[in-house]
Amino acid sequence: MSKAFNYTRGILDTLFKPGAEFLKSQGGDKILLGEIIEMLAAPYDDLLHAWDKGDRPVVLFENGLVPQLFYAFDCAHLCLEVQPLIFSQSKTEVLHNFLALAEEAGLPSDICSTDRFFVGAALSGEYPANANYVTTTMPCDGTRTAYPILEKIFKKKMCYIESTNAYGDEAAKWFGKQIKSTLIPYLEEITGKRFDIDRFREVVEESNKAYELMLDIYDAYTMVPSPHRAALRQVPHVGYMTQAGSPRLTEFFKKMNADIKRIIDGNIKPKYEEKHRVLWAHVPPAYDLGLFGWMEKTFGATVAAITIMNPAITPIDTTNVDTMLEGYARQGLDLTMALLRISAEDMLNYMVDIYYRFKCDCIIMTQHVGCNNICGKVGVARYLCKKYDAPLLTIEMDYNDNRVTPSESLREQIEEFFTAVMK
Ligand code: SF4
Repeated sequence: MSKAFNYTRGILDTLFKPGAEFLKSQGGDKILLGEIIEMLAAPYDDLLHAWDKGDRPVVLFENGLVPQLFYAFDCAHLCLEVQPLIFSQSKTEVLHNFLALAEEAGLPSDICSTDRFFVGAALSGEYPANANYVTTTMPCDGTRTAYPILEKIFKKKMCYIESTNAYGDEAAKWFGKQIKSTLIPYLEEITGKRFDIDRFREVVEESNKAYELMLDIYDAYTMVPSPHRAALRQVPHVGYMTQAGSPRLTEFFKKMNADIKRIIDGNIKPKYEEKHRVLWAHVPPAYDLGLFGWMEKTFGATVAAITIMNPAITPIDTTNVDTMLEGYARQGLDLTMALLRISAEDMLNYMVDIYYRFKCDCIIMTQHVGCNNICGKVGVARYLCKKYDAPLLTIEMDYNDNRVTPSESLREQIEEFFTAVMK
């Protein structure tokens, strides 16, 4: 059994930190890349620091929540949903081992690899029993299956927050009340602190600033040609998902916006001519980080937007504690995968909106095996693409596990699409 966070620490120390330092030392365009890695690494650094010193509670939380409340309670925290992505890119064999461990323990192989990863990581000792786990009953069967198993492995109660499949104001109000009655008392218990409304407001105001800056970045990405290459599309979203409410994120978004301004004001053209603008529907493969760059270089096809990584969220109203909790709840409900709970019709209308807003001319939709939320929507997507005359490529794959559709096969399908359909 490995020591808690052993592999995570390895990724931070051998990849993130030296990678960021190296890129920053190269100057020019590379500085922003180094700063991106530094920003992505920050929660890991914070978590390991707290874990080693034992001076702050460590919270591992699941999709369906955003981090402002954890900052307000001064907990070190990590969004678990992001973990398999990091391993998929840098510790592929470890990821395979975790998946195998989960399957040997009885988890069916058709459960989402994200959830199998959690169980395998817990069985291996990477996730410790004495951390604090917080999850919601969203967004999928996989999550609802994995967390009770984690609870059995750790022989410890977790914090479960009842969520909703509904959408809109009432849903956000209701989920806000669940957070008030479940998550806040849990955080009070593990930190020994009372909920401080003023501190929460301060964190929320900080996240509202970051939110506005994130919107500016996404607005800039609607421009033709896009000022940033497609490889950066996921960055603002992952930043918000893991660090909303931290001044560090706000400062980082200012740097991204400054870089965009530098490119626009200097009339700096992209390295490759932009011939196509792709809407990527659902998750890109975490194991092929070079895919978007390869598409730009080979076909002039830039991924202009990724459906689950464009903010459907709204800023948080800080009038009083209830409006803040409602707004906080709404961001959890509408960010990333949790958004998938909405009806197929609403989801696909959302997709059409992004398609036009980002001036796309085709759609690549991934069918992540194990995700009923997206695989169930492909028929409707086909209907919709016919209706709007939008060329559509669907690819079956597992976004964490490269063995299901290896990079070569993924690229072959994309090549065929751009040479036969989009020529
Ligand atoms: S990809 Fe689908 S099945 Fe996997 S965690 Fe996300 S919503 Fe759940």
